[in-house]
Amino acid sequence: RAKADVTRAVCFYESRMDEASRARRALAQTLRRAIELDQLELHYQVQTSVETGDVRGYEVLLRWNHPERGQVPPSEFIPIAEENGLILAIGEWVLRTACRQAATWDTPTKIAVNLSPVQFAHADLARLIHEILIETGLAPSRLELEITESTIIADKTRTLHILRQIRALGVTIALDDFGTGYSSLDTLRSFPFDKIKLDRSFMSEVELSPQAKAIVRAVLTLGKSLDIPVLAEGVETDDQLSILRAERCDEAQGFFLGHPKPVDQIFRHGKDSDDRAVPFAGRVP
Ligand code: C2E
Ligand code: MG
Ligand code: MG
Ligand code: MG
Repeated sequence: RAKADVTRAVCFYESRMDEASRARRALAQTLRRAIELDQLELHYQVQTSVETGDVRGYEVLLRWNHPERGQVPPSEFIPIAEENGLILAIGEWVLRTACRQAATWDTPTKIAVNLSPVQFAHADLARLIHEILIETGLAPSRLELEITESTIIADKTRTLHILRQIRALGVTIALDDFGTGYSSLDTLRSFPFDKIKLDRSFMSEVELSPQAKAIVRAVLTLGKSLDIPVLAEGVETDDQLSILRAERCDEAQGFFLGHPKPVDQIFRHGKDSDDRAVPFAGRVP
């Protein structure tokens, strides 16, 4: 009886696995054609100075408009693209499209583009970025690249070499999702990052948890000592922003300040904006 139950459970598990891997394969197939079918789109989320509210830049976030499923979140399709290598073509498309779009803006606002560890492993990344900057005419100082600790861990020597090449172009490097990896402090020691992005998990608890608040404070102190500005991710409330102001955090990003939006909507602040607060209207480029 128990054995039959186990067998049934295993069969159920296996068929569910088949189903999941079939769905994954199907998604991978459609993703293969997503670029040529024009299904990929870039959204931009504002990053602001905590002290003055000035716009400091925009993070570029990839969206996939799937013909049947609607918008598929990056957390679902980026791992697939990393597994089958498609992230190389997709990552190149993101870089080129973001640089091209930003080059047409009236003000020289920065853009921050996320990079996958796979791009460091397989592409001549510094050369690609150099070519895209020349091709689009975007000033290198307007481009920031966001990497996570996993990129450093994957191949430290190679990654550091590429980061130095990229930095030599005049492009800046931010350490994303700080505080959630295995060895955050070691990562900080390995490269002089231009920005630390404190993971949003800390923000979601900062109002209630003294531990989270202590960690936020410690990271801000660390940033000050290393002379690296800290950006707090995932700011969703006025209270969180007040805490960051009291703690002298440099920059903030989150739904409270602005949701990620299509490029034609980012410069439109005001009544038609979906933002919960528009504290910086008038300063926006
Ligand atoms: P990330 O780089 O840490 O990006 C921040 C994520 O937090 C975004 O999710 C953004 O929409 C979300 N977010 C922003 N503010 C808030 C907030 O106040 N509350 C909450 N709950 N969430 C907030 P998204 O766009 O779903 O992207 C998820 C992840 O996918 C990104 O995390 C990044 O790792 C990856 N990703 C996105 N675009 C690209 C890309 O072009 N290339 C690569 N390699 N990865 C990308
Ligand atoms: Mg990011
Ligand atoms: Mg992040
Ligand atoms: Mg993340």
